[in-house]
Amino acid sequence: MTTLAPNYHPLDIEIAHAEGAWVTDTAGIRYLDCLAGYSALNFGHRHPALVAAAHAQLDRLTLTSRAVRHELLEPFAQAVTSLTGTEMLLPMNTGAEAVETAIKAARKWGYDVRSVPSDSATIVVAEGAFHGRTTTIVSMSSDAEARTGFGPYTPGFRIVPYGDAGALAAAIDETTVAVLLEPVQGEAGVIVPPEGYLAAVRETCNAQDVLLILDEIQSGLGRTGAILTQDLAGIRADLTTLGKALGGGIVPVSAVVGRADVLRGLTPGTHGSTFGGNPLACAVGLAVAELLRSGLFQKRVAALAPVLAARADQLLRSGHVRAVRQIGLWLGVDVLARTGREVSERMAANGVIAKETHDHTIRLAPPLCVTEEELHLMMDALARAVAP
Ligand SMILES: *Cc1c(COP(=O)(O)O)cnc(C)c1O
Repeated sequence: MTTLAPNYHPLDIEIAHAEGAWVTDTAGIRYLDCLAGYSALNFGHRHPALVAAAHAQLDRLTLTSRAVRHELLEPFAQAVTSLTGTEMLLPMNTGAEAVETAIKAARKWGYDVRSVPSDSATIVVAEGAFHGRTTTIVSMSSDAEARTGFGPYTPGFRIVPYGDAGALAAAIDETTVAVLLEPVQGEAGVIVPPEGYLAAVRETCNAQDVLLILDEIQSGLGRTGAILTQDLAGIRADLTTLGKALGGGIVPVSAVVGRADVLRGLTPGTHGSTFGGNPLACAVGLAVAELLRSGLFQKRVAALAPVLAARADQLLRSGHVRAVRQIGLWLGVDVLARTGREVSERMAANGVIAKETHDHTIRLAPPLCVTEEELHLMMDALARAVAP
C-alpha cells in the first residue's frame, strides 16, 4: 500500500462484493453498511433497477461530450426538475463541481442582474459547513484540517454561525449575491438547525434580493424522508446542489437545479464539464429519479425513522454518549469516553460499518432499503461500541 496516496484513513476492511445493505469482505465476512458511501448508496448496493439501467446504457452509448446532443439529456433534466419542483438543471459529475457551479452562477447573476461591482461579490456561508474539497470550497471552510496549507484562499466568503438567522441576516450587505447552506449539516455530524431557521433565511434572502443556495448533496434524495430536506421546511431554494445518491452508487452524477433566470447566466463558453451529463450518468440519474418518484423509499424512511428515534433516545439515556441528533435515517452521535475512530472500529468488529466524522462524532446513514431488524442490529452494535 505504498503507492496509494494517504489522503484517507480507512477501516481495515477490504470489500469484495455487496448487495442491498450488506457488503462482504475479501475474507468472506459480511457487514451491514451503515455508511452507505456517505449517502451515495441511499438505494443500497447494486439496486436492480439502477444496475439494469446502467447495463442497458453501456451497450448503447456511454459518452458523447457536450459538443453534440444525446437523447437522454433533456429527459434527465426534465425528470430531476419535475421531481424537485425546479425549472432548470445543469449537469456535472461530483458534488464539489456542483457547488462550484452554483457559486459561479450566483456571482454571474450578481454582476449581471444585481449590478454588484465586478470582482466584489460575497457569499454568506455557515460555520461547520462541508461543501467539498476544491481550493475555492476549502476557502470558505471553518475546518482547520480541511483548509490549512492550501492557501492562498479564494476571497468573497463570510462565515456565520449555523442555525442563527439573525447573524446570517446581519452578514448580508450590498455585495452579497447568495447565502449557501446545508439544510442539515452532514459532515459536521448531522446538525439539524432550529425549527424555523430555513424559513427565516428564505425570507431574509427574499427581502435582500439575495439567492438562497441549498447544498442537498448529502441531505437530499430520500435520506430525511423527503425528496429534498428543504421540502420539510416548506421552502424552495433558488439553486439546489445534488450529487451522491443521484448517481445511484454506480457513477458520479451531480447537478445544480433551480431558477432558469439564474442558470441562464452560464452561457456557452463560460462553464462546462467533459463528462457532465454523459449518457451513462443520465441513464442512471433517470432511474434514480424514477425510484424516488415511486415514493417507496420515502415511505420506508417515514416508517423506520420513529424506530431509529426510539433507539437513539434509549442510547442517550444509557449515559454513554454526549448527544444524539436524528432526522430520517440519519444519525449523529457525539461519543463520550472513546474517540469516534475507536467506536467505528468496535462497530466493525460487531459486523457494522460506520465512520467517525471529526474526532468524537459517529455519523450513521444506513441505506434506505434497510429493514427494521437491521436497524436494531446497527443500534445494538453502536450501543455496545460506546459502552465502557
Ligand atoms: C459530499 C458532499 C459534497 C462533495 O461531494 P463530492 O462528490 O465528494 O465532491 C458537497 N456537499 C455536501 C453537503 C456533501 O456532503
